[in-house]
Amino acid sequence: MNMITGRTKVIGIFGYPVEHSFSPLMQNQAFAATKLDYCYVPFPVAPGEVAEAVAAIRALGMRGINVTIPHKEAVLPFLDVLSVDAEIIGAVNTIVNYDGRLTGFNTDGLGFLEAMRVETGQTPSDKKVTMIGAGGAARAVAVQMALAGAKEIRIINRNLARADQIKAVLDAKTSCITRTMPFNCEDLADTIRDTDILINATPVGMYPKIDAAPVVEPKLLHSGMLVCDLVYNPPETGLLKAAKNKGAATLPGLGMLLYQGALAFKLWTDQEAPVEIMKEALKNFLHI
Ligand code: NAP
Repeated sequence: MNMITGRTKVIGIFGYPVEHSFSPLMQNQAFAATKLDYCYVPFPVAPGEVAEAVAAIRALGMRGINVTIPHKEAVLPFLDVLSVDAEIIGAVNTIVNYDGRLTGFNTDGLGFLEAMRVETGQTPSDKKVTMIGAGGAARAVAVQMALAGAKEIRIINRNLARADQIKAVLDAKTSCITRTMPFNCEDLADTIRDTDILINATPVGMYPKIDAAPVVEPKLLHSGMLVCDLVYNPPETGLLKAAKNKGAATLPGLGMLLYQGALAFKLWTDQEAPVEIMKEALKNFLHI
């Protein structure tokens, strides 16, 4: 880590709990590698303390903040400006302090797109996308997929009302065709077969329940698909193994984790992030 001096710029992360976050390690190694005079500190912010915590960014002259669960939506009313996509998503994971003016960004979905571009060479443009899950990560990814030109997005979730909320946002703000479906609907199998990009945005397959049945039946996967899992631990989930067995291209969740951080680094420092250093930090942290 860099020596902290009177000139060091402070970045932090607000979450609750926050002690298991990978971001302090990843970002501090990035600052050390680039010799930028920044440090990154975890702040456990209890629910109910969000207004005070955001005010402290200004009061303490911090350069920026990452926001994680459960505060990504709660910070919105206390910010001065939102990026267009953060406003559509309705959640912020990165704040930049521009001379006291706090601007909220969301790099989660953009991090996913960047991982897809770098690791598979694919883009969502004109593709039929099927997303399993309708939580915060699904919302960020669905919005960016739609803004990047996906032809159609189908959202499959146990709780259909949550999927419908994302559909309403996409219908209001993008030109993408959207559908929502429950797991037990009649044309589920046909919909999944007729998919270019399949995304698991549920925790199914995540450590320690790594032997859970994949969220999509392996027999529905095929070689023409790109199968993506937002789960990053284990790095290769049961779903991704099944997809590889079918000859499909795959995208593990680690890339989204990496590039959301790399994009935040650039917002705070105006410099390109040292992606390879950050990737190694993550791999060490996750014992990969
Ligand atoms: P969340 O807001 O809690 O949403 C969870 C979603 O998963 C909901 O749609 C929920 O369905 C569904 N779900 C949960 N258990 C399920 C099960 N057993 N079967 C089917 N559906 C199930 O969580 P999130 O923040 O969106 O995160 C979702 C996943 O993405 C997590 O595994 C998380 O680790 C991962 N993630 C990865 C990154 C990354 O950088 N790679 C970033 C963020 C999140 P209901 O609505 O019906 O309950």
